[in-house]
Amino acid sequence: MVSGGSGSLDTWQSLIKGKVLFQEPLSKYTTFRIGGPAEWMIFPLDLQDVQAAVAYAHEQGMKIFVLGGGSNLLVADEGISGVVLNLSKGFNYARFQDTLAIVGAGYSLPRLVTEAVKRGLTGLECATGVPGTVGGAVRMNAGTREAGIGDVIVQLKLLHNNGILATLKQKDLKFQYRESNLPAESVILEVVLNLRKGNQKAIREDIHRRLINRKATQPLSYPNAGSIFKNPPGEYAGRLIEKVGLKGARVGDAEISLLHGNFIVNKGSATARDVRALIQIARRKVLEETGIKLELEVKLWGLSEEG
Ligand SMILES: Cc1cc2nc3c(=O)[nH]c(=O)nc-3n(C[C@H](O)[C@H](O)[C@H](O)COP(=O)(O)OP(=O)(O)OC[C@H]3O[C@@H](n4cnc5c(N)ncnc54)[C@H](O)[C@@H]3O)c2cc1C
Repeated sequence: MVSGGSGSLDTWQSLIKGKVLFQEPLSKYTTFRIGGPAEWMIFPLDLQDVQAAVAYAHEQGMKIFVLGGGSNLLVADEGISGVVLNLSKGFNYARFQDTLAIVGAGYSLPRLVTEAVKRGLTGLECATGVPGTVGGAVRMNAGTREAGIGDVIVQLKLLHNNGILATLKQKDLKFQYRESNLPAESVILEVVLNLRKGNQKAIREDIHRRLINRKATQPLSYPNAGSIFKNPPGEYAGRLIEKVGLKGARVGDAEISLLHGNFIVNKGSATARDVRALIQIARRKVLEETGIKLELEVKLWGLSEEG
């Protein structure tokens, strides 16, 4: 019988219709290609599955992690104990009704942008080139410095960590730069976006321009997790890191990109420890030389910022 530090495969399988994996390597699910195993990974097929998983995890005292596209994550080399909910199977849908899009949290954000353009809908251009899922994008209020996906959200369905299902309306939601007022351990299940009819040719051109700009400024040929730090008010984290001479700095196979100071790239077999060491170096040097404290944008699973 397979059993983790907590929970057992037999019990999981009796509770959940979706797939259940034990000791599943998270490096397969992160764009950094870094991360040890998740004790349990569950692929809920519907709300009932999510509720059952959350209830069992609580009963067993297990920590719950929600995985999107893994494009904003640094996961410990040792992995994590607890349960990872992967919504890519059961919550992978998008329905359009005029200007409204009703989207499952596991749906791909790039695909949503493409589907919106196909229908001549504007409002998601700020998400051009942002990888990951809609759930992850909502949690992070993904987008540019000026605009985020939160700007077009009119309704959101989530499961609180005590198992209570809630529907939040626009007036309940507050989105800021890479942040929201969504409860920390809740599971975002579905979101309703209100887009606008636009000029399809103009939207396509705008998106094309944004993609070209990304290709020129971001190190997209190596595994990475996008911006490591948030941009401090009135500044750019990448510019500060460049200013203190850290572009190209390397620990193991992790390197501060030569192209973009706020990206760390995995040049082969970088570990989470390597990446964290670079994060600490960048933070320390920027603080010493400019007085600015950089805040992490990337989320850490199983490891602390210091250590
Ligand atoms: C090349 C590259 C470029 C990028 N460019 C941008 C950019 O321009 N703008 C930008 O904002 N970001 C950018 N990012 C970062 C990243 O793509 C975004 O933050 C993205 O929205 C994260 O979505 P995800 O599904 O991958 O989330 P994950 O990385 O899987 O998770 C991120 C956080 O969201 C939580 N989460 C995920 N799904 C759910 C859910 N259903 N319910 C509750 N919590 C959930 C996770 O627990 C975690 O805390 C970039 C990343 C890369 C690799």
